Amino acid sequence: MAQLFSALSNAWSNADGGKTFRPRYSHKPGSRQLRLHHTAERTLGSGNLRMAVALPEGEDLNEWLAVKTVDLFNEVALVYGMVSEFCTEHSCPKMCAGSRFEYKWGDGVTYKTPTEVSAPKYVELLMAWVQKQLDDPTLFPVEPHVPFPPNFREMVSNIFRRLFRVYGHVFYSHRERVIELTFDAHLHSCFKHFMYFILEYSLVRAEELQPLQPLIDKLLAEDDAKWGPRSAPKQPGTPSAT
Ligand code: ZN
Repeated sequence: MAQLFSALSNAWSNADGGKTFRPRYSHKPGSRQLRLHHTAERTLGSGNLRMAVALPEGEDLNEWLAVKTVDLFNEVALVYGMVSEFCTEHSCPKMCAGSRFEYKWGDGVTYKTPTEVSAPKYVELLMAWVQKQLDDPTLFPVEPHVPFPPNFREMVSNIFRRLFRVYGHVFYSHRERVIELTFDAHLHSCFKHFMYFILEYSLVRAEELQPLQPLIDKLLAEDDAKWGPRSAPKQPGTPSAT
């Protein structure tokens, strides 16, 4: 995954000159998240993305959700960066995932009511909205012993519910361009990572996943064939291999 990340970074900077969606958030040196981020990267190296989302033994769930939110947010930024120069006000006047799903932007502050904006505007507003939360230490604590807010999980769910729409838009509106750029495998890999995380922690309701449900089913079936069934219940008392 580290290789994938740098391949995408390079391709992306070449594609748009690095003007727009560069992942901006990194784990601060010495922060409590940095160690877990390294653990996450090591697990990704196994190639089995289903395992890469599982909570490492003995780790705190909220810490893990925080670390993975940052990493998966960065992947969304990279994925959108692949097509950002082709996603314009003209080509994409609405934020949509196919013709059946349209999204309006509302943040309760600048956009008090859901407002129709173009896809590039929606993604810009969305990324800034997520970034602002990631940068707020009362929401994503950095210092040791600072508690997570009580609504942390709900906040994370909300972030993933909205970030999912970027994948929806890219798959429906820019898939051909992605194939042309030979980024198809990268896109699938990033989406699978994102989706397994959502499924592992039930972060997004099924109805929100509808636009990409056929693709999700297909990817899950491929991985089931490759790695064995995902949800095989563990027998009580059977030691876990992972
Ligand atoms: Zn677009």
